[in-house]
Order: sequence, then structure tokens, then C-alpha cells
Amino acid sequence: MTAANEFRALVLTKGDDGTVTAAFETLTDDALPEGDVTVRVSHSTLNYKDGLVLNGLGGLVRTYPHVPGVDFAGTVEASSHPDFKEGDAVVLTGWRVGEVHWGGYAQKARVKGDWLVKLPPGLDARRAMAVGTAGFTSMLAVIALEKHGITPDAGPVLVTGATGGVGSVAVAILAKLGYTVEAVTGKAESEAYLKDLGATTIVPRGEFAEPVTKPLLKERWAGCVDAVGGQMLANILPQMKYRGAVAAVGLAGGNKLETTVVPFLLRGVNLLGIDSVMCPKAEREEAWTRLVTDLPLDKLDAMIHPATLADLPDLGKRILKGAVTGRVVVDVN
Ligand code: NDP
Repeated sequence: MTAANEFRALVLTKGDDGTVTAAFETLTDDALPEGDVTVRVSHSTLNYKDGLVLNGLGGLVRTYPHVPGVDFAGTVEASSHPDFKEGDAVVLTGWRVGEVHWGGYAQKARVKGDWLVKLPPGLDARRAMAVGTAGFTSMLAVIALEKHGITPDAGPVLVTGATGGVGSVAVAILAKLGYTVEAVTGKAESEAYLKDLGATTIVPRGEFAEPVTKPLLKERWAGCVDAVGGQMLANILPQMKYRGAVAAVGLAGGNKLETTVVPFLLRGVNLLGIDSVMCPKAEREEAWTRLVTDLPLDKLDAMIHPATLADLPDLGKRILKGAVTGRVVVDVN
């Protein structure tokens, strides 16, 4: 049992030899960073970036001790921000929280109110973290494809890294919206999982193992949500349909893109960049509202792997190996 101003946190420290170590600590409110809203956190989640931070990789954290956790959801405990009052249910993703700022792997967080979004009716904190940055970004990607005119009758939409967080949610949203979804995965055993989310066709990752040599190939997909990047994206671009669009979300397979401009010039293919971290607030609110209607809750629930703060050091290693399927939801209490 902790006193009212005490809370548990997963704290990372860096030793003189550069090694980053995780430990559970009981902190008091005065340890919290500056900010105009204090949130009693109930749930957080695990992103690839959290894996990097937990393992001291990627140079994302500037100062230690550090509380990781890129995303959190909970209830406002205290606020001097005009838009938030005690008791409001809120969600935070991005803004470099969990990297430059203390994050959600704790029972309390203090942040700028401008970074928070009120949870839309229909989504509680647990499900908001099942969505997390990954699902929120998938929604941004789908909205970008829609704004680009990719409608369900334009043709199939490909989702890469389909069993991952971004991919799983993208498959479920697109299927609910009536798109024909083709899912690329390296996990043959996940076919039933992906079909249950709404994928009609499974495309084995091995199909992208060799770099394509021609600038254009047979037209296959009207749209793509790409969580993988690298050679997979390079192989996809020549296979996009006339006026198709690829929402580039991730780099799970690499950050280099060796391709030609021919699909852009001869087929009017567009490559749409998706950033969730600094995304403006109005677009965030639109995406969270859309998630309530466009992401079937039973599919979301099927993606959830429950976890506690104590599981995070191990999970942080596993996500870096691509060994986490679906969405980890961390109950911090
Ligand atoms: P996950 O680790 O949950 O999923 C990534 C998936 O990609 C894996 O499950 C696997 O799926 C596939 N994959 C992994 N390694 C490779 C590889 N070497 N080659 C091909 N496929 C691979 O991560 P997330 O879904 O959370 O994130 C996906 C990407 O999106 C990451 O790069 C992340 O940094 C980025 N991201 C970007 C955001 C933005 O704002 N732009 C926001 C959130 C994430 P399978 O086995 O099914 O093929």
C-alpha cells in the first residue's frame, strides 16, 4: 500500500560503464517532472521504441534516471490546464514522452495538457492502450489513404508486418471499412489470427526476399499500410496499381529505400509519410474518434496480451526480436 503522494515506477538508471538498468522504485509526487496536468496512470503498452529505451539503445533518452513508457492512459488527478479537470479520462501517445520526458511505466505521470487527448466515449483506458501508438498510427495511415482517394472498390490494400501492433490494427480497421486486405507476415502459424482480424489473403514475407529488378511489375494493390520499410517497401512500389498510395509507417525491416521514381511518374503512385509523434492535436482527436467506430472491439480484445510492470524488461527484449504478436497492455497497478 502506498501513501496518496507515493507511486510505483519502473526507473532506468545508467551506470558509469554506460549500462542501463531497470528497477522498481516507490517515488513521491515531487519527483515528477514539470507539467500542468498530473495523471493517475492505469494502463500503458509496449512499442518497439519502448524496447529500445528499456535496453538503453537508440540514443532516445537524454537524461537518467528515466521513467520509460511512450503511451499511457488514465485519469486526471490535478490540472491547471483549462481543457482538463480532475477525473477526466485521458490518453497520451507520442510527443517524445517516454524518451525525452518521463513516461507511462509508473502509476503517475505529469505532462503538458496540450499533449493529452480526452478518451472518446466508448473507449476505456485498457482498450486505449490496446490501441496505443501502434493502433493510433494505423488509424492515421488509413485516414491518409482515404484522403488520397483509396476507397474499398479501388482494389486490395496490403498491410506489411501484419502480426505486429501497427499491422494487426490496420488489418482490423481496413476489413471493418470494407477493404479487401492482404496481409504480409513472416509467421506462417499466424494465418488464422490474421484471417480472424479480417485479412482475406496471406502473403508470405519470403515473397519479398529478393530485390525486384524491374521498375514496374504487374499491378496488384490500390493501397498499402507499410510497417516494414526497406526492401519490402522497395518491392511493393512497382506493384502498386495506377494512382495507388502507400502509407509509410515503419522500418521494422530497415530504413533504406532503394528504388526508382518510375512508379511515381508512370503510375502516379504516392508515398505518404505517417508520423504519430508530433501529429497535431486536431488530427489526433479525429483519429481517436474514428477508432471507436472503425476498430471492432472484439478484434481489438483478441489482440491483447495482458502484462504488468514486472514483465516489461523481458517484453522489451522480445519486441526487438519481432517476437511480440498483437498488443501488449500493461496494467501498472
Ligand atoms: P511490432 O514489432 O509489433 O511489429 C513489427 C512487425 O514487422 C513484426 O511483428 C513482423 O511482423 C514484421 N517484421 C519484423 N521484423 C521484420 C523484418 N526484418 N522484415 C520484415 N518484417 C519484419 O512493431 P509495431 O507494429 O509497433 O511497429 C512497426 C513499425 O512502425 C516499427 O518500425 C515502428 O518503429 C514503426 N512505428 C512508427 C510510427 C510512426 O509514427 N510513424 C508509430 C508506431 C510505430 P510479421 O512477422 O507478421 O511479418
